[in-house]
Amino acid sequence: MGDCEVCGSKPAAKVAIIEGVRLNVCYDCAKHGKVIEKPAVAMPKAKGPAHNMGTHAKGKAAALQSSREEIMDDYAEILHKQISKIGLSYNQLAMSIDENESYLKRVVHGDTLPTLKLAKKLERALNIKITELPE
Ligand SMILES: [Zn+2]
Repeated sequence: MGDCEVCGSKPAAKVAIIEGVRLNVCYDCAKHGKVIEKPAVAMPKAKGPAHNMGTHAKGKAAALQSSREEIMDDYAEILHKQISKIGLSYNQLAMSIDENESYLKRVVHGDTLPTLKLAKKLERALNIKITELPE
């Protein structure tokens, strides 16, 4: 810590702009100018997108998947009703549309949103409608 650049008799404690000049000054001399507590260096922001990579992948995939048509909100109910009505087993249905049975179960129970491709297959296999065009 150098001496005050104005009076030179006290230790400099602050940085102040006095008559347009940036100086290291003591408390007393700082009163004559505009004090800048910290050097005017742009601080890098703490928050950054650096560690968020990958977290948006899911949303992106969903957006790509539903280019136009969307899966109806009550798709699970429609599927479930139709499957019991027809009397199909999950295994039979899974085989007929060439899908994994446990995946199919999750879809029918509403735990997993089907892809548009799967939804179309189910529509054909069960003669139902579970997709719609967004308004
Ligand atoms: Zn001074």
